[in-house]
Amino acid sequence: MTDVADPRPDPHSAALHCKRRGLMLILSSPSGAGKTTLTRMLLQSKKLDLTLSISVTTRPRRTSEVEGIHYNFITRKQFETLRDTDALLEWAEVHGNFYGTPSEPLEAILSEGRDVLFDIDYQGARQVRQKIGADVVSVFILPPTMRELRARLERRAEDPPETIAKRLENARTEISHWAHYDYVLINDDLQRTFEELTAIVTSERLRSPRLKEGLGAFVETLLNEPG
Ligand code: ADP
Ligand code: 5GP
Repeated sequence: MTDVADPRPDPHSAALHCKRRGLMLILSSPSGAGKTTLTRMLLQSKKLDLTLSISVTTRPRRTSEVEGIHYNFITRKQFETLRDTDALLEWAEVHGNFYGTPSEPLEAILSEGRDVLFDIDYQGARQVRQKIGADVVSVFILPPTMRELRARLERRAEDPPETIAKRLENARTEISHWAHYDYVLINDDLQRTFEELTAIVTSERLRSPRLKEGLGAFVETLLNEPG
């Protein structure tokens, strides 16, 4: 018996790895619900292989943050220049600071078929949905209770008390936008929420409209097989 390799593509890899445009996975939540923690877990997953969209912000850097990794920290004047020259895909004022997503690096990443993770607020999510609807998958993260939200902001101990108060005040407005999102998760148990996010990314990657091009070739080969 000869050991000749089957020339047909492996069906599982055909479905998961066929050519497609990257997804834009948007995570939003009120401050303190766990978005940054979940973002870190998602980025650490080799299996998911996500790329973070690095925003620009006028907010002061927290001690735990690194320039160019968590954000690019810029001045108000630099922000206004980016905004006024249409260099931002979306932007918003959140808790008194400006935040925005630079457009330039994005297109290259998406056209390579890489999936990009965005940690942006509901105003930014709305702008991206309006501009690029089809590639967007949006997830809103809720805290289990308002009391727990406050406790998490206090435990994080990264912001002064007046900033925490402002973030809690804004949380109700942010939460009121939950229904515009494709998925809504309650981040009670961190590991379970992470698993739910992983399931969302895996399923969204397999949606047939995203795989049309690659699957077309696979199905054509399939139909030409004798059976
Ligand atoms: P966000 O980015 O939404 O502002 P963070 O990810 O910084 O929130 O989380 C705020 C605090 O809550 C952090 O100290 C984090 O470790 C903690 N935290 C996040 N998710 C959970 C959870 N499911 N249970 C308990 N603590 C959590
Ligand atoms: P933080 O200051 O806690 O890092 O973020 C505050 C809020 O700003 C969060 O809700 C976060 O999702 C949002 N945010 C961060 N970057 C961007 C961005 O580029 N655009 C928009 N619209 N919101 C952002």
